[in-house]
Formats: sequence, C-alpha cells, structure tokens
Amino acid sequence: MNIHEYQAKALLTKYGVTVPRGGVAYTADEAKTVAEGLGGPVWVVKAQIHAGGRGKGGGVKVVKSLDAVAETAQAMIGMQLVTHQTGPEGKEVKRVYIEEGCDIARELYLGAIIDRAKDCVTFMASTEGGMDIEEVAEKTPEKILMVSVDPATGVMPFHARKIAFGLGLEGKQVGAAVKFIVALYKAIVDTDASLVEINPLVVTGGGDVIALDAKMNFDDNALYRHKDIADLRDPDEEDPAEREAAQYDLNYIKLDGNIGCMVNGAGLAMATMDIIQLNGGTPANFLDVGGGATREKVTEAFKIILKDENVEGILVNIFGGIMRCDVIAEGVVAAAKEVALSVPLVVRLEGTNVDLGKKILAESGLPILSADDLGDAAEKIVKAVKEAA
Ligand code: ADP
Ligand code: MG
Repeated sequence: MNIHEYQAKALLTKYGVTVPRGGVAYTADEAKTVAEGLGGPVWVVKAQIHAGGRGKGGGVKVVKSLDAVAETAQAMIGMQLVTHQTGPEGKEVKRVYIEEGCDIARELYLGAIIDRAKDCVTFMASTEGGMDIEEVAEKTPEKILMVSVDPATGVMPFHARKIAFGLGLEGKQVGAAVKFIVALYKAIVDTDASLVEINPLVVTGGGDVIALDAKMNFDDNALYRHKDIADLRDPDEEDPAEREAAQYDLNYIKLDGNIGCMVNGAGLAMATMDIIQLNGGTPANFLDVGGGATREKVTEAFKIILKDENVEGILVNIFGGIMRCDVIAEGVVAAAKEVALSVPLVVRLEGTNVDLGKKILAESGLPILSADDLGDAAEKIVKAVKEAA
C-alpha cells in the first residue's frame, strides 16, 4: 500500500526524521489558513497524488504571498495532474500540502528498501538528488552507493557515516545525516515498510539535513498489525476495478493486454497467462477467483473483466476441485447474458462435474467456444481475437 507525501512525512517525524513544517488542505481557504499558521515569507503548494514527478508536471509551486497560496491551491485542486508516473490520463488532485519554503543548498537522494536478495534493509544514496533515480541507476550506476544493514545489529553509526561521507557531507551535516539515517531505519523496520524514498534529501543553507519529499510503501500482509497506517489508505488512488475485486475477495490485477482471463488458483492463473503469451496473445489481467467461488463471485469476476475496454476476448480456465464445473458454467452463462457479451469467449473446464458444466455451456445458446485442454484453449482464444479484429 502507498500513502501520500504528507502522511509519510507525519509518520517519519514520529521517528525523528526532520521534515519542513506543513499542513494538508482540501480547499483554497484551508490552504490559506494553513499557510497563515506556518508564517512566510515563502510557501510551497504540493499536489498530493500517489505518483512522483509532480514538480515537472506542475504539481509543486513555490509562492510568496498568502493570496498566491490560495490561488495556486484553487488551480491545483481538481486538476488532472500528468507526470511520467501517472500515465497520459493523469490523476485528479483532491488535496494539497502547504509547506514552508526551504533554502536548498544541495539536493541528494536517499532510499531504503527491504532487500529480498540480501534479506535485510539496504540503503541507496546518491548525490544525484531530485533526479529520476531509475535513470541514474541505468546510466550512471556508479553514482549510487548501496549500504546493507545486518538485521542482527540493526543500523550502526558506521553505516550512517559511510552514507554521509558517500554523499559528500561535511562538518555538522554528518551528525545531522547520521541522526536522520538512524531514524529512517527505525521507521522502516517498525512500520513494516517495504520502501522509503527521500528524493530530494536536502542540505539547507544553514547545514541542516531534511526530507523535502517522502514516499513510503508498506507490505500489505503486515497492515493488520498497523491499524493507524491501514487507515491512511486512499481509495481514490486505487484502480476502481481492483478495489471492486477486493470487495468480492477476488485477486485481480489489471494488465496491458487484450485477453481477459478468469482462472482459479494463482498457479493456474500464471500458467494461463504464460500459455496465452506463448500463443502470441497478451493477457489483459491476472484474475484468481479462488477455490470456493460461488456463482455470484464468478458473475462479478466476469463483469470486472469486461469493464476493461481493452478486452477483446476472454479465456475462462477452471479446474473444478472444490469448485464444481457446473457452478462455474452457470456463473459464466448468467454473466454473459447480463452484460450482453460481445467478445469471443473460450471456456476450458476440467474436474468435478465437468460434463454437466459443458452441457450447461452448450445449451446456453451463447456463442461459447469449448476447449479440451490448456493448449487448445489458448490457441482458440488467440485465434478468435485475431479473427474478430
Ligand atoms: P516530485 O518528486 O513529485 O517532483 P518533490 O517533493 O520532490 O516532488 O518536489 C520537486 C522539487 O520541488 C524538489 O526537488 C525541490 O526542488 C522543490 N521543492 C519541493 N518542496 C520544497 C520546499 N518545501 N521548499 C523548496 N523547494 C521545494
Ligand atoms: Mg521527489
């Protein structure tokens, strides 16, 4: 799960990470009130969306009067902000963060991730702050310093000093950075975060080290033990189809292809996606309806797949073990009728009550193509989609 910049900053502050003072606002009036409370003379109005690159897209504005704060907030709230991370459709800005302006001497990069290869937290630091770190990693990987922390000891001052010196910090900045890095480590471990990214980490004119931007991702499987963090979830930032799927306890992830898949079991779902690809097609989604799906669940799954405008064909691939093939067939027929199915549909059933399931499909009067095995099913759907195009 992701959270907004202002939420990440509030959370990190509790652990002793230094951030500029600021407050969130949902309207221009609120923005002005927050700005008044902070005092001037410079404020920054920052669009709060779950995407980076806001600065370049017009979502971060430096202003020098209270009226300008209100005007800028007015213009930003409700705008469709496009950045290199949002896709061309952009994301609607529903809240802004008003922050005190910072006197920036240097912009650096500091990130920390759960490093699955090394089973520990690894810090990544670079003097190329404010830049797209993926680009730095690709073009000039030598400019990224990696420091892994043994979980048995946790972060030690020497780890932090190595990073601070690597960033070219001097004098009192080193002490400030060490305190910052130790606090960041504690935050990531304590909150079960999978990523914390400070870009830019700023050295101010006065030699302070502060987080000017903050991004945090959390391990969904650990949210049950962090109710305060789970409450920060912003449903507006989630894919509506994925949200709806979660309500029906379906594991759905939208992808870029044009063949919708409805499958039971994550392993079979992955195999189905692979074999579609092998036959020259591309899956539009990952969808695991689970072992004990009901007819209603299948109908919902079907509807969710069909809401995706890119879907030009659907492959249903179900192994009926706990779930009976006739139940699946009924669900498929009901859903196809309900949504007036207009794309080719291939169904491959195997397992309990398979003959009854096939009979229900055949007698439905719908143009459903039945397949005998996985290879046959993939071939049929790829061919049908090509012919329909
Ligand atoms: P994003 O990464 O989404 O573009 P940032 O929060 O990193 O957003 O802001 C982009 C740039 O705007 C920063 O690199 C910094 O130069 C400037 N900026 C952001 N916040 C402040 C602030 N409080 N004071 C001064 N400049 C800021
Ligand atoms: Mg940034």
